[in-house]
Amino acid sequence: MLKTVKTVKTPKGNKIELIETQNNKYGKTVLVIGVFHGEEPQGEYLINEFLKSDLSGIRNKLLFVPCLNPDGKSVNKRQNSNGIDLNRNFPTKNWRHTDSSEYFGGNAPNSEVETRFMVEILNDYKIDAVLSIHAPFKIVNYDGPAKELADKISELTGYPVQADIGYPTPGSFGNYSGVERQIPTITLELPEDVTNENLWIVNKPVFDYLAYEF
Ligand SMILES: [Zn+2]
Repeated sequence: MLKTVKTVKTPKGNKIELIETQNNKYGKTVLVIGVFHGEEPQGEYLINEFLKSDLSGIRNKLLFVPCLNPDGKSVNKRQNSNGIDLNRNFPTKNWRHTDSSEYFGGNAPNSEVETRFMVEILNDYKIDAVLSIHAPFKIVNYDGPAKELADKISELTGYPVQADIGYPTPGSFGNYSGVERQIPTITLELPEDVTNENLWIVNKPVFDYLAYEF
């Protein structure tokens, strides 16, 4: 039912996994990503809650990267172990070299093993939608042709849709996946002032929608 189909080791020796549901040949394909940023562990919690549920009737193929940044998570930091913000390291047209900061996107685009892992997944699968889970802004942000899906997720969670997060994000995954590859891409920003259990109650309908209805 669930199979780990792809793994990679980080510089610190942690494993990043891609988990695939195996029971469906015909539905859409949806990719869900947690912990882009190491101090935002909520996505992995939600993914693991969903993976505990009975998935026998799901309609769509689901791909999960429960934790993209295990090195950052292990020290509760935004960046990976090379001090790079993975959400600024994608090989987009607007990627640029910046001064070192917590948003540092690396010395070159696609330089990080975590970034390349994601690029390979987008190359290997025909993906119909991406849900990338972050915190703490409590909004549904989107890139590419995803307004309809963003509206639906807003309706399910009560979090408002915000098309523009309010600051430039060169080299972001949303730019890469949504804008440049035209894959409907949702950046779900969870609130941080609530418990994980509460987050699951509010966001379970999003997972159910992507699995059974989308
Ligand atoms: Zn984030």
